[in-house]
Amino acid sequence: MENESNQLHVSFLPVPAQGHMIPMMDIAKAFATRGAKITVITSPAFAAIFSKQIERANQLGLEFHVGMPEGWENTDAVGYSQNLPKFSEALSLLREPVLHILEKHKPDCLVTDFLFSWAADVAARLKIPRLAFGGTSIIAVCAGEVIARHRPHKGVSCDSETFLLPHLPGDIKLTRNQLPPHSRQEVQTDFSKLAREAFASEAKSFGSIFNSFYELEKDYADFYRNVLGRKAWHIGPVSLCNSDTADKVQRGKEASVSRHECLRWLDSKKPNSIVYVCFGSIVRFSSQQLVEIAKGLEASQQDFLWIVKGDKSQEQDWLPEGFEERMHGKGLIVRGWAPQLLILDHESIGGFVTHCGWNSTLESISAGVPMVTWPMFSDQFYNEKLVVQVLGIGASVGSTLYAMFGEGADLVSRDDIDKAVRRVMAGEEAEVMRRRAKLIREMARKAVAEGGSSDSDLTSLIEELKQHKAARESK
Ligand code: UDP
Repeated sequence: MENESNQLHVSFLPVPAQGHMIPMMDIAKAFATRGAKITVITSPAFAAIFSKQIERANQLGLEFHVGMPEGWENTDAVGYSQNLPKFSEALSLLREPVLHILEKHKPDCLVTDFLFSWAADVAARLKIPRLAFGGTSIIAVCAGEVIARHRPHKGVSCDSETFLLPHLPGDIKLTRNQLPPHSRQEVQTDFSKLAREAFASEAKSFGSIFNSFYELEKDYADFYRNVLGRKAWHIGPVSLCNSDTADKVQRGKEASVSRHECLRWLDSKKPNSIVYVCFGSIVRFSSQQLVEIAKGLEASQQDFLWIVKGDKSQEQDWLPEGFEERMHGKGLIVRGWAPQLLILDHESIGGFVTHCGWNSTLESISAGVPMVTWPMFSDQFYNEKLVVQVLGIGASVGSTLYAMFGEGADLVSRDDIDKAVRRVMAGEEAEVMRRRAKLIREMARKAVAEGGSSDSDLTSLIEELKQHKAARESK
């Protein structure tokens, strides 16, 4: 532990949603292991969800303070798209209580989710640097900025015609149908307003932290710095800081399957023989789509571990007649929350059907597992391009429509699921992808190891923050 006056004190303000909070907790841990004092500002409900992680983090010297108004604590509680206006409103309501906490705790730096658009002003008022964390890939931020600047989607005649993202490396093409509403710039929604304000606030911050590593997104990291002229530190994959089983299991929520049951089943299978199917924390499918997934998995003849979200009553309606009996021993369905890191790191997992949420994508990359890509919203269509086109470690199911949280997404057929799963799991193409994925996994491990690119970036970030603190204190 450093002496009190030199010790850097960093406050973290995550958005209360698993996909944002999980990596931010890992980032806090990375700072703590470098001797920084950490305050995570969160709600009692979220502190409870993360209590086991918090307990272990406390042993590392982390300190937790609670400061959110009750009732606005988690996207699970807030609900889905119909409640987004309330979610945006809740984020802005947090400004005063958070400012109050910061004034009391006097941190040297504020790391917030990029969605807190008021954070840059609050940090400026306290004369401390604000770092933004978006939880996305670098390619996604670059692509979004290219679309905003050059508006290539205005040059096509219909929503399903592809257009090229000009100046962006990698020959990336998309359709208007795949763009988020704030990029299409046609109608102003609550979320598009929130996103635009957040991007503006990020631009006036000290810089951004990415959960990525330079070697993975080299061209986009260079584009971000040299063309967009922004400052960033790439310090990921941050999930790799969880090396023991307990850390891998207790992330985000209590798992719905015991680690022993899960491991026993995985251990009974051959290496690379199981396709893991999970769509993050918020996607919900219609019963019709669930049936197509079930039939597609059955047709692929691959063993599978399928995580299904949603309520128990829906399940009775969609499960095809006799499906579970037919799949006995071949497929395991877990309803609820999976210990995803533990699963992906198991040698029996040969492929991952994913919605391309950035955490899931990077966790799969870190485990050397090729992907079946099924993007729906947020940065997922850009992440799919990175996985399939740039890195060559995935096959797409061919989803064509941006659908927030998967609501109103186009139906992906059992045939398309079957085809994409086979491409990733069996045959020569699968072998090529697997070899490449294992090489990239080694790159990821090197990046976070001592002297690697992410490790060095974190060192230089901490140095800059210390210099900032020293300059401020000498005034
Ligand atoms: N996750 C998990 N178990 C689940 C579902 C998700 O552990 O059953 C974790 C997953 O490992 C990842 C995060 O939740 O860290 C999901 O983030 P992602 O960006 O992939 O998707 P989002 O939930 O934000 O759509």
